[in-house]
Amino acid sequence: MKNSGSAIDLSIVVPVYNEEAVIGVFIARLMRVLKELPELFEIIVVDDGSYDGTFTEIHRTSVGNSQIRGIRLSRNFGKEAAMLAGLERSLGRAVVIIDGDGQHPPELIPDMLAIWRLGEADLVSAFKRERSADSMVARLNAAIFNRVMKQLTGLDLAGASDFRLMDRRVVDAVIAMPERVRFFRGMTLWVGFREARVPFDVSERMAGSSSWTSRGLIKLAITAITSFTAKPLSWVFSFGCFGLAISVVLTLQAMYSWLLGIAVSGWTSLTMLILFFGSANLIALGLLGIYIARVFEEVKQRPVYLVRETTGELADV
Ligand code: UDP
Ligand code: MG
Repeated sequence: MKNSGSAIDLSIVVPVYNEEAVIGVFIARLMRVLKELPELFEIIVVDDGSYDGTFTEIHRTSVGNSQIRGIRLSRNFGKEAAMLAGLERSLGRAVVIIDGDGQHPPELIPDMLAIWRLGEADLVSAFKRERSADSMVARLNAAIFNRVMKQLTGLDLAGASDFRLMDRRVVDAVIAMPERVRFFRGMTLWVGFREARVPFDVSERMAGSSSWTSRGLIKLAITAITSFTAKPLSWVFSFGCFGLAISVVLTLQAMYSWLLGIAVSGWTSLTMLILFFGSANLIALGLLGIYIARVFEEVKQRPVYLVRETTGELADV
């Protein structure tokens, strides 16, 4: 197993993007919690290509504190890539992923650790109990997203967040997955092992605003679905079969009218059919396109992220 000789018990991975105003306060809050623990820990803060002073802040907190390491990606690669960058550099036998905006309470980490220490779970997920800190639209978006995901992939993500503790076995399994387009929340469930859940209340961001846009969420949903299931493709196939059955019935009817000499006058139904199957065709093509694009992304084999600089010493990966 990778990193098995390490003395570090616990790694905390914090992906951040333009969190200049909060990251310093957040790390201080995290340190307060971690200092109370018997475990040897490290904090890996991944700056996902922020254009504000986030990395300077991270660097400032890391000076004279070897437990804090900062990694700066060469540009904004997205939270999924930032999390991977942190995971790949983590040394701990357990790794916690936590948002750097204060919405995930670090005070929950000791509870998560306690469950892991008992050896009863390899994955301890923090579940959102209360979403009232989120806006109506955000809650509605999440509800639709989770519903669609459950239907399509069987993964129940309701209330799920990226805030979770993973045993080294889970971390290594997730890192080993070769895909470029990643959906962490689903991947940690996919690998199996034993999951335990602890509830938490989502708090307000300490500052700044969420970087999710509706467009970003739709993109995430498409990534999540197309990287976990090919079911939509089989729907298109079933839909085609259904259309074929209808067209057989209509052909029979047309022939019947022709035989009786009462043909023509079918303009309306014809137009409807053309429009209907025309658009169905386009949708099906678009869907195929999405999957082909996914294959294209994967065969290019580009790195998921690039590192621009790091604070202090970084362990080789
Ligand atoms: N984040 C990131 N890269 C991005 C967007 C966000 O690393 O491209 C970080 C962000 O700084 C925060 C966490 O991911 O620590 C969650 O992001 P955000 O608060 O925007 O999302 P939400 O809480 O609304 O899900
Ligand atoms: Mg947030």
